[in-house]
Amino acid sequence: MDENLRLGRLFGVRIGINWSVLIIFALIVAGLAAGRFPLVAPDRSTTAHLLAGLVAALLFFGSLLAHELSHALVAQRNGIDVEGITLWMLGGVAKLEGEAATPGAELRIAGVGPLVSLVLGLLFGLLWWVSGGLLGDGLTREVLQWLAIINVVLAVFNLAPAAPLDGGRILRALLWWRRGDRTSAAVTASRAGRLFGFLLVALGVAELLLVPGFGGLWLVLIGFFIANAAAAEGSYAQVQAGLSGLRVADVMTPSPLVLPQHLNVEQAVDVYLLPNRFSSFPVVSPEGRPLGLVTLQRIKQVPREQWPVTSIQRVATPLEEVPIATPFEPLLEVLRRVRQGGESRVLVVHDGQVVGIVSPTDIARVLDRAPLRSRPSA
Ligand SMILES: [Zn+2]
Repeated sequence: MDENLRLGRLFGVRIGINWSVLIIFALIVAGLAAGRFPLVAPDRSTTAHLLAGLVAALLFFGSLLAHELSHALVAQRNGIDVEGITLWMLGGVAKLEGEAATPGAELRIAGVGPLVSLVLGLLFGLLWWVSGGLLGDGLTREVLQWLAIINVVLAVFNLAPAAPLDGGRILRALLWWRRGDRTSAAVTASRAGRLFGFLLVALGVAELLLVPGFGGLWLVLIGFFIANAAAAEGSYAQVQAGLSGLRVADVMTPSPLVLPQHLNVEQAVDVYLLPNRFSSFPVVSPEGRPLGLVTLQRIKQVPREQWPVTSIQRVATPLEEVPIATPFEPLLEVLRRVRQGGESRVLVVHDGQVVGIVSPTDIARVLDRAPLRSRPSA
């Protein structure tokens, strides 16, 4: 769920939305203004129902934001950078740029979200209760009641012990603390997440079959999302375990074939690309300074007749868009810098010279061998 619109910053944390959030916003407003509110306040105008629906939806997303913001702020306090918060169709996501160093930190970061939702739920409930004497049974009280319920539901749902939900993170933290092994904890939490996801899908399908309307569709959607995300978290944990302790130099393909910047595409293909098995080539200056990275993919995009007149440097991905690393950096830290959708190969540079490339193939090879490297610890 990418960020489509940036709203600004709150407590230094970037807040954005994905367009899909508008769907759920519209559904909430419509559901309340055309469904629930006319039933409980038939004497009020349609405009009043609509207005109340808008206020309720806005406060709901405000509550969601408070939940995610609490994750982000506690993460920051525990030394983890936060890329930002994105609200989307199925809720909010606080994107953290790193992971908790201890089970305790993980527990605090995960636990604070449901706690905030619960407190908000109780607060709205209190307002609803207090306003009873003042407002009678009006629209405002209906909004307060709905907000109280939805926040408590949010807290309870998020506490389900299934990754990627907060409850899954809490489960992971507790297992990590008990077993002393982060990876096995993450794998268990991910299994629980997949199970929970499929359970929701099954419930959703049952609802679709037994209850008129399309309410079950949401459960199916959320269930698939959770099962998918849980599976991804499980494989990510295994990748992390396989790569931890490795440095860039351990996995890189060393001394890659470099292309001098003065070549045109045809020369590069004939002299360098065809006789070799590599699929990416750094382009370098006469002094050997890296200028960019050429891949077979990018060359294929140049029309054949343009090859003799196109400089190889023009075809290369510019250096600013290529992830750069030094040979002695921890591999996992470098991989965090590789952006999704961007250049996936990492250029390894030492003393201003290209000394290696880390490609997805290199990573796959290391992961393939990871079980052979690990020995039972004493
Ligand atoms: Zn949360």
